[in-house]
This record gives sequence, structure tokens and C-alpha cells, in this order.
Amino acid sequence: MRFFPVAGLAIVLSSLAPAQVAPRRLHFAPDRTYDLIKTVTTLDVDADRQRASGSVVATISMLRDGVTSVHFDTSADQVSGVLVDGKPARFTRSGGSLEIDVPPSKRGQVHRLNFRIEGRFFRWTNPTAEEPNRIGFCAEGLAAQPVGWAPPNDLSSTEISLTVPTAWTVISNGSPVSDTPKGSGRHTVAWRLDQPHAGYLNSLAAGPFDLFRDTWRGKPLIMTCPKGMGDRLESTFAPTKEILSFFSDILNFPYPWPKYAQTVVYEHEGYAEEDVSATQYPLYWRQDGGFMSNSREGMNPTAWVIAHETAHQWFGDTVTCKDWGDTWLNEGMATYMEMAYTLHSRGQLESLREFEAYSQRYFDHSRTDFRPVATNFYSDSLGMGGWTTYMKGGTTLDSLRRQIGDKPFYEGLHQYLARHQFSNVESNDLCEDLSEASGVNLHPWFDQWIYKPGHPVIDWSWSYDAARKLAIVHVRQTQDTSRGAPIFDVPTHVALIDDQGLRRTPIHLNAADQTFEIATPSVPKAVIFDPDHDFLRELPKQPWTAEELPYVFLHAPNPIDMEAAMNRLLDGNPTDETLRMIAGRLRRDTQPFPAIRDTSRLVKLGRGVLHDFVVAETSHANYDRRANAVAGLGMSDQPRLHQLLGDDQPYDVVAAALRGLSTLDFASVREFAMTQAAKATYPALRRTALEVLADHQAPGWDAAILETATEHHRPLIRELGLRALSRLPHDDPRVAASLRSALASRDQKIVTDAIDLVGRLKVKALAPELQRMKAQGQHVADVDAALKALAS
Ligand SMILES: [Zn+2]
Repeated sequence: MRFFPVAGLAIVLSSLAPAQVAPRRLHFAPDRTYDLIKTVTTLDVDADRQRASGSVVATISMLRDGVTSVHFDTSADQVSGVLVDGKPARFTRSGGSLEIDVPPSKRGQVHRLNFRIEGRFFRWTNPTAEEPNRIGFCAEGLAAQPVGWAPPNDLSSTEISLTVPTAWTVISNGSPVSDTPKGSGRHTVAWRLDQPHAGYLNSLAAGPFDLFRDTWRGKPLIMTCPKGMGDRLESTFAPTKEILSFFSDILNFPYPWPKYAQTVVYEHEGYAEEDVSATQYPLYWRQDGGFMSNSREGMNPTAWVIAHETAHQWFGDTVTCKDWGDTWLNEGMATYMEMAYTLHSRGQLESLREFEAYSQRYFDHSRTDFRPVATNFYSDSLGMGGWTTYMKGGTTLDSLRRQIGDKPFYEGLHQYLARHQFSNVESNDLCEDLSEASGVNLHPWFDQWIYKPGHPVIDWSWSYDAARKLAIVHVRQTQDTSRGAPIFDVPTHVALIDDQGLRRTPIHLNAADQTFEIATPSVPKAVIFDPDHDFLRELPKQPWTAEELPYVFLHAPNPIDMEAAMNRLLDGNPTDETLRMIAGRLRRDTQPFPAIRDTSRLVKLGRGVLHDFVVAETSHANYDRRANAVAGLGMSDQPRLHQLLGDDQPYDVVAAALRGLSTLDFASVREFAMTQAAKATYPALRRTALEVLADHQAPGWDAAILETATEHHRPLIRELGLRALSRLPHDDPRVAASLRSALASRDQKIVTDAIDLVGRLKVKALAPELQRMKAQGQHVADVDAALKALAS
């Protein structure tokens, strides 16, 4: 299953909008009449026509006596013949379904079926003016092995042999078998994977690629991307070995496949795919940069998705959900393992931040797609792919680990992998293995978190009973239980803060309305409910008083509570004393992944008392902290700002320094801005340079924008050039010319951006162009919206 990145959230949500989703119904893994043992695919690729032809040979073993026809799925445009055990067989085709007559057979009897096929099969890429190396194709699942069993409940070994132009690399599942010249500038490349795996995890990518090879614990690693970008492969995939080691060791289950290939492809923008031993990533990924990054573009910004897809090599690929109703066994588990890697590689604070971010993503999603994590009652496989599956699955597993302890938890996962490797699993298998390893009967836990919908929504408050010397903590679970959400049974803590520090007391939630009494000799300075964020809970409002906030800020073990307290302390007009207290705490928050990342509100106060703090922050190990601090530097800090333009700085810091200097002394950065406007490859820096030039109407500012919007630039740069056209007079004929050229781009993202801009900038001269596109059925919804904007 696909993993949608943050940037793809809009795609996920729109595709799950109720109106577009098939009605929910009961699903079970489909019946099988045979066991698919192996498929061998041989395809001759005609790169000019973007088609391929050849054969798939499937070896099957019958599961029942007396079966006379078998079902296969196919992505072929044409199936011109089927042989069963060498003899022509009758078959019928209906869409992607094939029914083939077989001689009446006994259970265990083996047949070989040979399908002659022809089709387009793959996702082909076409060169553009921006990207002349946009050549070749990628494919997954049934497109990569064009005849097979599409649902996840049959696993087989595969072999593929592909004849392509000699200049092309071919990456697929398993191990390379052969690479043979074929004459006339072509070669035949074969790959084979003996371990059984689900058909949806088959993978192919071919084209003129750059490669970076490495080894890890004796196994080959292959990192691949479109030709011309290879200089970024090593830095982009730098975390790979540590991720493989961490997962292998903590699961006590070595990486199970013969090699690991990671291929960056032009197609499938916005999601990655965890094909067995051959993950594919999209070149266009983040809002403000590509998948491929170097060390100045952020702190391994795609490490998390590399960890997620690599985790699938165990969860999803080694053990595979039997039916899409249990998609969370693939996706929730991969999300959890990625969170575990965050904890391992970035520390507790970053891990807790991620837990909160994923919780919020799930809460938002659950308002439109309310369902259990695992269920047989769903619309279709896409309907099981939302954030409930990923984020509720991942965060609840993390809270289960904390509840039963690391050792039993990971021993349970080891047992689950060892028992079910190369076979299908259901949620109950995971429940049994975790229960056995921990000694805790986890059926109640699975029942409330996995098989029922919803989550706790907490409303809490506290008071002090001076006579009885008790802190009284009142907790209500306010979730709507009318649609099946339970009242949750959860162990957690309450923390009391006094001058000695923070003290936790365990409490047990198991009713809608509960009161807990905690003995304490004097009034606590502050109280925190669930101070470690032990479980997935929505807490719309913290009841802290103004007097409690400094204590929460200084003592909260969770960065989310700490940040919430800080932001409330910054409301209104904070005193110098408060600001000194905050800065003093933040000065100790020095980790590369600190408790507080967003200091922008504090810095933007521009208060003198913070000046030394702000200057120190411009050297913070965390890039966000460093970039935020720049906004707090003033006239007297210009030497420091000039240092921050240096080649040793992250691009976001350079962009912030450029913006800061442009307001203080534009002349001192005009040349630098001109250079970055023409050459910067990092979109945010290029955009800042163009904006700074436009803000000051520097000579050539308009030409710089128009140049960036031309087709000579890769889409991420061209896009920002197009957006910057809004700075020019909208009736400038050069704006219309630029957008007209973008409307004709072969890159569909450029085209949709241009359509939107025609509407927003009201470029009436292009109305006929839009009408023509509408008549031809191109991007009709976008075009309609733009035409409406033009008319208004
Ligand atoms: Zn995934």
C-alpha cells in the first residue's frame, strides 16, 4: 500500500471524501482454488512505442479436487493465447479478470499456464524541455508482473526478464540473474526473488539512471535516480544503513531479502511504495524541495519516509495482511517502526513531538472518516488507507510499547515475524504473539483501540482540598459514544509540581467521569494530566491558570505541554522577567532536535532583553531555531547576518539572513540576491531572492522572475517563478506569454499551476486558451474554476 507524505494530505483527504468513496460493505479475503507458486515474466520493451509484449508463465498447485477453471488478474491490453501444460486452453476475459479452463484436477496437482500478452503496462515518462532525461518507466504490482493474483492473500516467487535499450538500468525485486546484450543497442536484464511475496509488491523501474552502490552486512544496497542527479544519492540515502541495522537488531530478525534497492522515479508524485527489496520514491515530494536533498536542505528531511518504507520490508513484505481490512498490520506497523527509529536517532523529545503530530493528523481525519483501525466493513482498499490506519495504528502501538515495556513488545514482534514470515497475517495473529510475549492478555486492548472506532477526548480540572491535604483531579471522557467509540480503559499518570520538582502518580481511567485524590501536604504549583502523553487522546483545552504556566513550562516532560505553556506566557505583553525565564530555559534546549522548534513568536517580539539570546540562537544546532532567530537581529548585527549568508549555512538560514539584510541595508545584498535569483537550486532561497529584488524594484527584478518561469528549469523552480509572476503588472504581455507557455507544458503540475494563475491574476487574454482546453477535456474542473475567476 502506498504511503502518502504530509504534502499529499490533500490528495488523501479529497480521495476519501464520502461522496467519492464506494459504499461500505463486508469484505473478506477472496477464496482461492489454487496456490500461486511462481510467475516468470518475459517482456520485450518497445521504448519508442511505449509498449511491451511477451509472456507470463504461472505455476500453480490446486487446492481442491475437481476444479475446472481458474481465475487470474491481468493488466495486459491483450491476452492473445493461454497454454495450460503446453496445450492451448479456452479462456474468457472481462476487464482485468481472466477465467481459464483447466483439466479436472486433484488437490496438489501442479499446472503451468503460459499467457501471451501485449500492452502499455507501465507508467511511462516523457521528456520535457525542463527535464530531458525524463525517460523510461516504473511499475508496481500487477503492472510489473502483468498476470497474477491481485489480492494480498496469495504469495509467490517471481522472476522477470526485460529487454530494454542498453543505456537503461532495470531495477526489480530480489537478485540480479543476468544482463545479456541483445544487439541493436538493447540488452536483456533478469531479476529473481525466490521468497514468496504478495503480487502488489512486485516492482519495476527502468530508464537512464544514476546509481550509487554500497553494501550493508554483506548485502548489496543500490540507490538509483534519474540521470543527472546522482550527486545527491549518497546524502539523500545516508540514513539507510543505520535504519536497516536498527530494525534488524531491535526485532532480532535480520533484513530478510537478498538486496535493498531504493529508486527515485519521476512518476507517482507524492507517495512512496515499499515493493519487496525494491522501494520506489517520488522525485517530487516535499512542498519546498524534491525528495533528493543535500546537507544544506535540512536535517535529513526524508529520513522518516526512508524509515517507513524500509520498515515495510518486515511489516507488509515479510508478513502481509491477508485482506485490506487489516491494512494497518502493514501501514500502522510501518508508521510505528518509523516512530521507533525517530526515538532511536533523534531522541525522546522529537519522538514525543512526532507522536503529537501524528495524533493530530488522525484526529482531523477521524472527523470525516470515522471507523475502527481494522474492520471487514469498508468501501475498498483505498478506503482502508487513511490516517486512521497509519496514524492511529502507529500511535496506539507506541503507547502499547510504553505500557507493556520495550522488551516484551519487541519480543512479541519478533515472534510474530518468525512465526508468520512469508505468509499472510490477521490482526489476531499480532494480538496473540504480543500477548504471549508479554503475559498480558491483549484482547481487551485490541478490542478498544483496534476493533472499535474513536479515541478518548479528555476534559479535566483540578482543585486542592486544604482540610484533607488532597489534590483532587477530575477527569471526564467526553467522546461521542453513540457511534461505537468506547469509554477507554487506560493507565496513565497525573503529575504534581511543587518547589521540589515534578512527581507522578499513577491513575487508571475506566469510566466516563472519575475523580482521583492525591495526598500532598501543600497546594501544588501546577498539575499536569498525563504528563508523558502515554496514550492517544484529544485534549481540546488545558485548564492551567496563569500562575501555573511558568511551572508547566519549566517542568513539563513533554515538549507539547511545554510549548503550549510558553505560547500562553507570550500572549499579551509578557514582562522582561517572563522573557528572561523563557530564554533561560531555551538556552538549555540545545539538542539538534530540541523540545521547542518554533521560537518565531518569541523572537518577533523584538525585545531588547532577548537580544543576547537571539544572537546565540543563530548558532543553534537545529536549523529551524537558527533560521527563526535571524528575524530578531537588527542594525547592530549586520556582521553576523552577513556571516549567515555563508556556504556553510543551511539554505533556510541563508534565505532568512538575506531577507533580514534586505530590510536593513538592501544595497549590501543586491548582488547576492541577483546571484541567488539566477542560480539557487533550493526553491525557498530562490523564492526569497526573487521577492527581495521585487520588493526593492531592483533593476532586472522582473526579468529574473520571467526567466525563472521559463521551461528551462525543473518543475520545482519553474513553479515558484510562475507564482512570482503575480509581482508583475497583470496586464504585462510578458505575463500572458509566460503562462501560455506553461499551459503547454508536458508537466501536469506546471499546467495546473498555470491554470490557477490565469484565474487568480485575471489574465483575460488567455481565456480562449482555457476554453480550448475545456473543449478538449483537459483539467476541466481546474479550468472551470479559473474561467469563473476570470468572469468575476
Ligand atoms: Zn506505508
